[in-house]
Amino acid sequence: MLILLVEDHRDIADSIGEFLSARGHAVDFAFDGVTGLHLAVTNHYDALVLDLGLPGMDGLTLMQRLRADAGRHTPLLVLTARDTLADKLQGFRSGADDYLVKPFSMEELEARLVALHRRASGEGAARKLRVADLELDEQQFRVTRAGQPLHLGPIAFQLLAFLMRETHRVVRRVELERHLWGDEPPSSDALRTHLASLRQAVDKPFGRALIHTVHGVGYRLTDDNV
Ligand code: CA
Repeated sequence: MLILLVEDHRDIADSIGEFLSARGHAVDFAFDGVTGLHLAVTNHYDALVLDLGLPGMDGLTLMQRLRADAGRHTPLLVLTARDTLADKLQGFRSGADDYLVKPFSMEELEARLVALHRRASGEGAARKLRVADLELDEQQFRVTRAGQPLHLGPIAFQLLAFLMRETHRVVRRVELERHLWGDEPPSSDALRTHLASLRQAVDKPFGRALIHTVHGVGYRLTDDNV
């Protein structure tokens, strides 16, 4: 999973980062609320871990702005020393999906993040994505365009699903690379190669491109001209 940790206490941030990395997750850090919100809005994280007492912008405000202003529903776990019922309720009202009171066990933190991610990605539930005449069924591993089945390999399928989920925005190259390969993409050209074959399958036979290159930034899958 790709996780954003927003925590101003360096020692806590370091130990969480070390633990989660050792378990195979990739972790980005923000040590203040403004940076945290910026990263959460501009990247695609599988889960956010958020401290409430933060410099710059407190955690509750960050959550509200992420949910209400930016419309992002990234699974979010609040980590805090505040443990009264009123604090917890306010956290949930502001958009938290889960809550863990310090001190906590790293194992429990990871287990909760994995559970949040699983729930959010709708494992076990049918999940269909659609952009224009392109349809992708994540559960059945099936893609059609204009009703015709397309045959994609596993990487092309993941790539397409990601772009379709994020159809409202431009996805940066590094986000796609991290989504597919974590911090170690096989080569700098691997993404380009996979995108080329994806376009060959999804766009070329249909005359109308849905996958657009945004030069110097990344890619966007949309029916609009960009
Ligand atoms: Ca703090």
